[in-house]
Amino acid sequence: MVKIIEGKCEGCGVCVKACPFGVLELINGKAVVVHPENCRKCGACIRACPNNAIEMGGN
Ligand code: SF4
Ligand code: SF4
Repeated sequence: MVKIIEGKCEGCGVCVKACPFGVLELINGKAVVVHPENCRKCGACIRACPNNAIEMGGN
């Protein structure tokens, strides 16, 4: 499961575009994990985020 570190997220939307599976959306200027069940843990969003605001959690 990916986790957004809200304090670091600046709402640029790069991760939303980077995710091939539509897991993330921008809501009120922050990235939100809207479809965690679709996350393949590919890491694309983590690599794409310019602010290191995404981390991989457990399970
Ligand atoms: S790429 Fe990073 S800073 Fe930009 S919206 Fe996603 S989590 Fe936030
Ligand atoms: S790890 Fe991959 S599938 Fe999961 S949210 Fe990030 S880009 Fe999408």
